[in-house]
Amino acid sequence: MRSRRSGEQMVFTRMGDWPMDKCGTSSLFEEMDSRLRGNDSGGDLRLRGNDSGGDLRLGGDGSEAGGGHIIRVAFESAADTEFDYLAADEIWPIQVGQRVEVPFGRKNKLQIGFCVGSGSRGPDPSTLLRSAQDGRTPVRSAQDDRTPLRSAHVPRASGGDDKRRGFKLKMVSKVIDERPLVDGGLMELARWISGYYVCPLGQVLAAMVPGAVKKGAGVRTQRYVYLCDGADEAIGQLKGKKQKEIAALLRERKAISPESSLELQELIDSVGCGAEPVKRLAEQGIVRMGRRTVFSALPAIPKGMAIEAKEVVLNEDQEKALGEIRERIDSSAFGVTLLHGVTDSGKTELYIRAIQAVLDRGKKAIVLLPEIALTAQTVQRFSARFTRIAVMHSGLTAAQRNAQWQKIKAGEADVVIGARSAVFSPVSELGLIVVDEEHEPSYKQDTAPRYNGRDVAIKRAQLANAHCVLGSATPSLETLANCREKKHFYVARLPRRVMDLPMPEMRLVDMRGVSVTGKGVNLISEPLGERLREALGRGEQAILLLNRRGYSNFVFCPSCKHTLHCRNCDVTLTFHKSKAVGSGRMQTVTGRHIGSGYAMCHYCLAQTLVPEKCPVCGKGMAMIGLGSQRLEEELAAKLPDARVARIDSDSMAGKDYYRVLSAFGEGQIDVLAGTQMLAKGLHFPNVTLVGIISADTSLYLPDFRANERTFQLISQVAGRAGRSAKKGTVFVQTFLPNQPAIQFALAGDFEGFVQEELKHRKACNLPPFWRLASIVMRDMKFERLEAACKAMRGRIDGIVNGGGLNAVVRGPMPAVISRVQRFHRMQIIVQAPEAGTMQRLFGELRAAGPIRPAVKIAIDIDPVNLL
Ligand code: ADP
Ligand code: ZN
Repeated sequence: MRSRRSGEQMVFTRMGDWPMDKCGTSSLFEEMDSRLRGNDSGGDLRLRGNDSGGDLRLGGDGSEAGGGHIIRVAFESAADTEFDYLAADEIWPIQVGQRVEVPFGRKNKLQIGFCVGSGSRGPDPSTLLRSAQDGRTPVRSAQDDRTPLRSAHVPRASGGDDKRRGFKLKMVSKVIDERPLVDGGLMELARWISGYYVCPLGQVLAAMVPGAVKKGAGVRTQRYVYLCDGADEAIGQLKGKKQKEIAALLRERKAISPESSLELQELIDSVGCGAEPVKRLAEQGIVRMGRRTVFSALPAIPKGMAIEAKEVVLNEDQEKALGEIRERIDSSAFGVTLLHGVTDSGKTELYIRAIQAVLDRGKKAIVLLPEIALTAQTVQRFSARFTRIAVMHSGLTAAQRNAQWQKIKAGEADVVIGARSAVFSPVSELGLIVVDEEHEPSYKQDTAPRYNGRDVAIKRAQLANAHCVLGSATPSLETLANCREKKHFYVARLPRRVMDLPMPEMRLVDMRGVSVTGKGVNLISEPLGERLREALGRGEQAILLLNRRGYSNFVFCPSCKHTLHCRNCDVTLTFHKSKAVGSGRMQTVTGRHIGSGYAMCHYCLAQTLVPEKCPVCGKGMAMIGLGSQRLEEELAAKLPDARVARIDSDSMAGKDYYRVLSAFGEGQIDVLAGTQMLAKGLHFPNVTLVGIISADTSLYLPDFRANERTFQLISQVAGRAGRSAKKGTVFVQTFLPNQPAIQFALAGDFEGFVQEELKHRKACNLPPFWRLASIVMRDMKFERLEAACKAMRGRIDGIVNGGGLNAVVRGPMPAVISRVQRFHRMQIIVQAPEAGTMQRLFGELRAAGPIRPAVKIAIDIDPVNLL
């Protein structure tokens, strides 16, 4: 992009066809941003590191420095501060959203940062940057208490406090981008994210623009040639053989304008000469040459498997829902519609119609899908209806990603489809954002900025006066609460499946009765094993789902089936490994306890020691983990002839994933075992059996959303299975057959589940009633970590008590995963009834000095889990 010259045009070339194995995406890695940051510092926030002060240099009074232009720069490094720099006339103007290279720190190391404020010296220096913002993205001042950024301490050109006077600003060394990468609207969104999710602005901006774009992946300069107007006579008089051939070829190909021109290389290759004859033609005014920047990449939209755009007549429910959505779109005011419709109720069809309505009004749309749902099939469905479409997901190469982004930026895409980070696509004239499967936890980014793509979508729609459609068969409790309480939120329902497919037979298997081997519980129950053999015997296929997260251990008595329960809540306790408890055994008045950890309630966060012996029958307690290797072993023993493949996101690159899926589709694999990610792709007609190995796995997650996740998983499998004439059966294995989440899911009773779940949430001050924030701190040294956590807790208490804030603070306590990669992890959890309280608390926390001793701090606002 840097190499683009003014006046040159931009084109998007296509090279070859889309290879099949690139049609989809892998689920684990998301865009470039997490990789860019390097692995360890992981985007953690060091609250006001002390190394940033070195940016100031003693010198004159600043006013004598060359040029009168000042910009404010936000760096990708974790410094939660913005810095001012002077810009020379030669590189002026520098716009907000462009990147610059500037000297930073005592050693003046060159660093790249985003320009986030820009202005020229005016009569009143204090308004300087403010006025330069084209009114859209004001640089907030220190007095604005909603802005925890340290911009107040940034030296201004003059003005500022006495101590700062006399400091001289450093000069910008160069401007990197010719045009802003981030426009005014996105800058405003970045500031909101920076404030709301407690993340330095520079980091937010870095995450907004794909790494491929920043690196200019796949960009090259192309030289092109075309015939000048009225050159016919001159051509007739040409002597040189090659020159004649070139002119003839250009004429034959009708290359008479930059748009219809031929690439120089292609031209001289076909004629078989060097560039010399072309140059001579140019000198004679017969041809004209130019340069343009091209983003060369394979097309991002799969070809060769095009599907026909089916002519669909909407049913009554769909018509009604579309009418409501269209009305809101036509009002050109911000609004959110929850499209609550069961699987196969025609939601996607409605998204397409709503997008069409927006395009008809000359506006554009963004569609967010969970990464794993971004398969070729889904993308094809949209590209069959819309031609000017761009896709953004992690399955693209860097060059493809850059090409797609440039296409969007150039206004050549009306519809952008992508994963979480596509919410940052540089779309102008935004009219609609669709968030499909809005309840999906994968919309939450787990490195800084820890944003939720759905919530950012809503905010972006609000800033753009656009409409936002959230679709789901099992909406999140937060969204349901918003629909009840907030204006601008509406609900539309699609209660029926479009085609009257029979629901699969649902069979509950009570695992409390299954046998326990030396390795723990058998993962495949008798009834499931039997049905597996039957199905494979008939040449049919099966899918087994297992959430293999190793830490989801639960405590269980194999002898009397007793599980540990919470004293305050009706939930089972989860085992947490922890060093904090001490090592070895522990003797208390109630007997011996396991010393390597404790059991915890994920609702009220009560902790208890785990008895070695079962309190009911006195036999030894067991910790049960359900790993996928265990499942493979068992399958091999029980079905020695079956061809089994395992898919899990941790162990598989995107390519392998699609290879296995297609092998399964072709019948080369009998049993596919894998994690929840498989639940999304269940449309293999020959699959007649789906086994959820443990529907409880997510119930045992130490998280208050465990019930919700369990309900969602079972509903999803139920909705997906049974997609052909062969009737399907779903086996739901559980140790907790009476758990409401499982009962409601088997009955398909969403309303019942919601009512039940809300009772617990309300009683424990959890979302959607209260807001939640999690602070995870980590360090190699436990003592150091403990001290830092105490300091953090003390500071939070100071803010809460000092401001009389209504907030509950818990911890520091060992995090659920208390040690990762030799880092000890501790957690502080904050609960507050109002989002505003949370914002104020973290704003003040951010503005206060650094926490000592310095450790890694990760702040997660609205966490989707508390791990
Ligand atoms: P969802 O997104 O809710 O799972 P889809 O929009 O994917 O549902 O619809 C499921 C299937 O039904 C698709 O193949 C779609 O083309 C088809 N379909 C949707 N609406 C209609 C309709 N009104 N009449 C016939 N087929 C429809
Ligand atoms: Zn409890």
